[in-house]
Amino acid sequence: MGISEVYLIVILIQSILQEMETTRSRMIFERETIVIKDKEFYCDGGDDFGHPRVYYTMVNGEAVCNYCNRLYVLEGYEKD
Ligand SMILES: [Zn+2]
Repeated sequence: MGISEVYLIVILIQSILQEMETTRSRMIFERETIVIKDKEFYCDGGDDFGHPRVYYTMVNGEAVCNYCNRLYVLEGYEKD
């Protein structure tokens, strides 16, 4: 294998890694955030991605559902 082939493979790997990073940050960005007034609440995933009802209590004004990855934020909560 010559130098040019190695170089091409490096470029290929770099572009794959970049694509993965883009996809990952897009997933984080598109995470559904729901602002509610109660720090004790339940999540059932909503209509499209329903799951069994799970009860949560917020810590530091937020909680993430283990099932559907939604972020719940307490309305009016201010971090120190
Ligand atoms: Zn959920």
